Amino acid sequence: MHPSEFIVCEHCDVVYQRADLIRKQSACCVRCGAELYRAPAMHLQTMLALVVTSLFLFVIANAYPLISMQMNGIDHASTLIDSVAAAWHSGVGPIAVMTALAVVLFPLTQIVLLGYLLTSLIMLHRDPPGFVDLMHALRLMRPWSMVEVYLIGALVAVVKMAGMASVRAEPGLYALGALTFLLALINAFDLRLLWDARDRLVE
Ligand SMILES: [Zn+2]
Repeated sequence: MHPSEFIVCEHCDVVYQRADLIRKQSACCVRCGAELYRAPAMHLQTMLALVVTSLFLFVIANAYPLISMQMNGIDHASTLIDSVAAAWHSGVGPIAVMTALAVVLFPLTQIVLLGYLLTSLIMLHRDPPGFVDLMHALRLMRPWSMVEVYLIGALVAVVKMAGMASVRAEPGLYALGALTFLLALINAFDLRLLWDARDRLVE
């Protein structure tokens, strides 16, 4: 019998069998009325939809220019990778590497790993090979995925340069904004739900 099938009331020690809750429901103790547990704010299916959407946004944010500038009648458009390369060539190697990791590599790895784990668990109903190691990798990567820092930097640049040249926000910047929002939701997701889903499969 799986241990999480039972739940004990923290206040009066009555033991209950867990029941599946739908969104926003919570289970309360019949004897003392204390809350036992709540339905998760986000389900695995919702999570998978967010992950797939964020993969599309990631591609757009990287493939299209973020900012374009008109100087002396010539258009300069720069993508995220352009700005990493520019930082590298102007001698701030560490910043270039950190940007490449925190804004490109870690978020992409997070998205791909979550996509793989969720697809395997809820679409194919099988235990994904490497589950434990990949879950640890996800947990370690979480604090280092910092698209928002870059987004703020890019927005500050747009505002500052607006006086000097004609600066325009390009599709990549909008995609990066939306991606930042989705990654915040994804990072707030309770990873225990994946462990629970896997426990149910391998039982
Ligand atoms: Zn109780």
